[in-house]
Amino acid sequence: MNEGLNEKHIFIVRCGEVALKGQNKPYFERMLVDRIRKRLKKIEQPGMAIETVRNEGLIFVRADKGYEKQQIISEISKVFGVASISPALEAEENMDAIGKVAVEYMMNLIEEKGIKTFKVDTKRADKNFPIKSPDISRQVGAMVLKGCKVLKVDVHNPDCELFVDVRRDVAYVFDKKISGFGGLPLGTNGKGMVLLSGGIDSPVAAWMMAKRGMLIDAVHFHSYPYTSERAQEKVEELAGLVAGYVGRFNMYVINLLPIQEQIVQNCPEEETTILVRRFMMRIAERVARETGSTMLITGENLGQVASQTAEALVVTDASVQMPVMRPLIAMDKVDIMEKAKEIGTYEKSIEPYEDCCTVFLPKHPTTKPKLEKILESESKLDVETLIDNAVNSKELIVIRP
Ligand code: ATP
Ligand code: MG
Repeated sequence: MNEGLNEKHIFIVRCGEVALKGQNKPYFERMLVDRIRKRLKKIEQPGMAIETVRNEGLIFVRADKGYEKQQIISEISKVFGVASISPALEAEENMDAIGKVAVEYMMNLIEEKGIKTFKVDTKRADKNFPIKSPDISRQVGAMVLKGCKVLKVDVHNPDCELFVDVRRDVAYVFDKKISGFGGLPLGTNGKGMVLLSGGIDSPVAAWMMAKRGMLIDAVHFHSYPYTSERAQEKVEELAGLVAGYVGRFNMYVINLLPIQEQIVQNCPEEETTILVRRFMMRIAERVARETGSTMLITGENLGQVASQTAEALVVTDASVQMPVMRPLIAMDKVDIMEKAKEIGTYEKSIEPYEDCCTVFLPKHPTTKPKLEKILESESKLDVETLIDNAVNSKELIVIRP
């Protein structure tokens, strides 16, 4: 075996949708490599290199053996755009070397997992390699049987499927593909302003847009002193969990109480929620404009609550010009909850703290608001000044993972 081969942990990283991008593919691949490097930089330790390179549609990460494999995998799998990851061993591109590495690989698996059966599956990306895939599989299988006496071949239901990927000058041997989230690399699709509450939905909405490559900022409304400082801390912690995927981002915190009081004093009670929501959207839009976001993102979901009926969403949308992204719009609550669990925000979201929306909650909120009537109610308010004051009072909190 070549000196230098397998001196490091090797990971094959597959790009999901990035691979489908025709002419823009190199751009997306570069962005993905960049994101992986940034992510791994955070765990890099002095004198222990981690290298990320792109080659023929795949990305290869090589890390010093001082790193825990699991740690590297866990970091890479959080990068949007990564479809799957395989820890691998590499071999020179000849049957003898491939066989030896396959035996070494299987010996490790026998030790780690006690596997008893296997089959070999080969992909020959290098069509100049003189042996065809099925024959490579057969020969490697024979060498593994010879080298690992406890193993048997089972082509139907093996404990381990051993993959051999023969590429130019080098072959890779691996057994599993650990799924990433797919999506597109962060920063390939603009920036959006998330209206982030402390609930289950909005962190998931933020995550889903980020997964499509959108950078995010957030705005959070509170009604201090009706809502507590602890409630805001909870939102910051929740935002920090989202930052675990997207990195550092800005969250603007705004007290909505002055607006809520004006609404309660001057407008019909049943319209409170929808009026508050229109103010939230307008303030978020203004902050978005000032800070370079071109869209708003909410966790709204058709029919979930009174303010999310079709009629209410129409009236909410009419308050702003920016497109409003609602990635959860057609999901069922159980599925949103599942997603929240999968991305790790659920437990934080269900901690019981008050939200500004529950302050001044009307007993019978209107579920079929009419825009003319809502505009009439708003004419009793000094809308522009209220928005100006709210925007000017915003407080910036930098959210970190
Ligand atoms: P969530 O679980 O995200 O809190 P929800 O089901 O409780 O959502 P609402 O309270 O009606 O629904 O809020 C709908 C959306 O409005 C939220 O998903 C979020 O995007 C936004 N929103 C609600 N409250 C706030 C808040 N205090 N600050 C910022 N945005 C908010
Ligand atoms: Mg909420």
